[in-house]
Amino acid sequence: MPHKPKTFKPRWMQTATRQSRTVARKRYDAERGSAAERGYDARWQKFRKWLLRQPEFAVCGDCTLPTKHIDHIDAVEDANDSGFYALHNLQPLCAGCHARKTIRHDGGYGRKSGDAAALEAMRVAARRRAEAIEARGL
Ligand SMILES: [Zn+2]
Repeated sequence: MPHKPKTFKPRWMQTATRQSRTVARKRYDAERGSAAERGYDARWQKFRKWLLRQPEFAVCGDCTLPTKHIDHIDAVEDANDSGFYALHNLQPLCAGCHARKTIRHDGGYGRKSGDAAALEAMRVAARRRAEAIEARGL
């Protein structure tokens, strides 16, 4: 029987008004650290722009829609994590696929990490993309 997939939102998105959402989002960001604190700084932005110019990162690795999102396949804490800048740990994902992947595989919003086979398939595809980029020279 077909059914609509459940949608998951962090608590701050479920909050009723715009003002209370802003307060809740700030609290959520304070808990996990700002983007810059998590390593998404000027160096990352420069790297990200370069990566998005690579043909292997032009379209979503899942649904093939054009995208500007980059996902860490295996979750990283911050830029000190060895997987943060590792090509074999990065994949292009569109916003929708990124949100679904975060929920299913990254323990997003407090959920347990998911499908090991799907994650391994992502790693294999990422290694193939990394090899293609490295073959052109970095
Ligand atoms: Zn997609």
